[in-house]
Amino acid sequence: MRLGSGSVLKVTLGSRAARWHAWRASVALAVGVLSLGLVSFMALLPAEGVEEESAPEETVALPAPIDVEKDEPPEPSPEPPPPPTGSGVDCSVVACVALTFDDGPSAHTGALLDRLEELGVKATFFDTGANARARPDTVRRQVEDGHLVGGHSWNHADMRKQTPATACSDASRTADAIREASGLDASLLRPPYGSWNTGILRACRGKTFVLWDVDTMDWSTHDVTKITDHAVNDSKPGSIILMHDTVAETIDALPAVVSGLRQKGYELVTVADLFNTPLAPGQAIYSGPRTGVPSP
Ligand SMILES: [Zn+2]
Repeated sequence: MRLGSGSVLKVTLGSRAARWHAWRASVALAVGVLSLGLVSFMALLPAEGVEEESAPEETVALPAPIDVEKDEPPEPSPEPPPPPTGSGVDCSVVACVALTFDDGPSAHTGALLDRLEELGVKATFFDTGANARARPDTVRRQVEDGHLVGGHSWNHADMRKQTPATACSDASRTADAIREASGLDASLLRPPYGSWNTGILRACRGKTFVLWDVDTMDWSTHDVTKITDHAVNDSKPGSIILMHDTVAETIDALPAVVSGLRQKGYELVTVADLFNTPLAPGQAIYSGPRTGVPSP
């Protein structure tokens, strides 16, 4: 092996003719490789150019196949976004109050929604999970009409008489029922009877507890005049007004409540719209900021 290699080397390098042939063979090989590379490169170049140029033309002319041409993973079809609840009112300047309705949806809620629509008012509903499950069409209409919807426990249990784990499990089931009915992710929760503590609030992660500072006592009096007087006379800028869409007299009182509050210079908005920034979870609120001034 050692001798053989030496002999070949000597023969190869020893002959001028052999060196010429070897050089020519190397040149031919190099030219061949270069040509092949060039041809391959030229073959690739136009193909890329065509794709890049034609794609935008096809995008403009034929919008439908864009997703196919892009060859991107298909986007999951998004849930319909909740309708905007933005009132366009700056409640730090203008005095706002929020009408809230608990315990439904009930047999009266459709009539209440009709009346809110006639009056041009956006409100906030706190539905129980059981009633949301029983009347999903009404929950969907609440959201479609631009109202805000939160949960009110599954079956109106006093959360302080439950373990935090059970209370929050009920709250999650209620949010599920609202989501299934309307697509809305209900992060607001009104504890039944206003009964809560910080342990429950911490346990129900992601929830904002919404209480109230004006109680119309509609659940107790069932009296149109008294309901109206409480709502109109007890409100201050930022007030959250408690009513119930299970009480027929509350629906009867609504036109007087709305006109009385408007005469006092209040804008009627959802609970979220009382605030200029999104409501952070993990807090309990009894009213919005007291900053707005009633319109003359
Ligand atoms: Zn209630």
